[in-house]
Amino acid sequence: MSKEGIIFDIKEFAVFDGPGIRTTVFLKGCPLRCKWCHNPEGLSVNPQLMISKNGCVGCGRCREVCTHLGNCVLCGDCVKACPNRLIKLCGDRMTAEILAERLLRDADYLNRQGGGVTFSGGEPTMQSEFLLECLKRLKSMHRTIETCGYCQTDVFARILEELDYVIMDIKLADREQHKLYTGVDNSLILDNLEQVKRSGKPFRIRIPVIPGVNDSEENYRQTAALLSGAGNLEMVELLPYHKTAGAKYEMVGRTYRPEFDINQVPNLDTEAFSQVGIECRTM
Ligand code: SF4
Ligand code: SF4
Repeated sequence: MSKEGIIFDIKEFAVFDGPGIRTTVFLKGCPLRCKWCHNPEGLSVNPQLMISKNGCVGCGRCREVCTHLGNCVLCGDCVKACPNRLIKLCGDRMTAEILAERLLRDADYLNRQGGGVTFSGGEPTMQSEFLLECLKRLKSMHRTIETCGYCQTDVFARILEELDYVIMDIKLADREQHKLYTGVDNSLILDNLEQVKRSGKPFRIRIPVIPGVNDSEENYRQTAALLSGAGNLEMVELLPYHKTAGAKYEMVGRTYRPEFDINQVPNLDTEAFSQVGIECRTM
């Protein structure tokens, strides 16, 4: 039987999620809790409601139709009842078979554009068996994942085998700092980075640049050292922190506590990478 996964978005014509034009599938669930996360709806692996208070006219229809007030069963009745479309069900259950069928419809076009399919999140390896089945069903397409790399190494190895390209985040090189700002130690991530380097598969590294957290010369130099000599590394991409990142937290019932100065201008000096011959660009 085909594995079921939980997806919170499918973005077509994506041009920043790997080579060429791509379809990007966002899987729910992430093991990290980065203090700057801009996709809080991807943190929980479970489907959930997203409610925007902006634009609410207080008509009360969402409450009138609900037969499970205070104990949501995600029936979607309030979603349909809201006249201003402020309520959204985030997280669709879908089998790998159905998803692959949908993605394969565009395979010829995307292949001609030098593109393919990208699995992102959340963290796509959180739903590893679903992801693996999808990747196997999509062998005729160019396949990549955007991963934080926090995944058991044996599972990561199985996923890596099915990929044509890898996009991996290295948020902080220092173990303690990584734990402080993401909630987890980076040992597993660095082990998986070594697997990617050994695999020979082309890859790129992404660094979300957070002012005062990971934009120091020291962190760039340590990260460059981790990557130095990897012949299959195509480039490093710096993604400057977006001030609007906190906007969605309230919609999923979370509080945004960035714990860094969001108004500080990030250091985007790429010298540490160019010194060891790594191409680096700012997105
Ligand atoms: S999804 Fe259904 S159960 Fe949940 S709040 Fe809306 S109407 Fe109530
Ligand atoms: S139905 Fe929509 S507009 Fe009306 S109270 Fe609920 S959220 Fe607000």
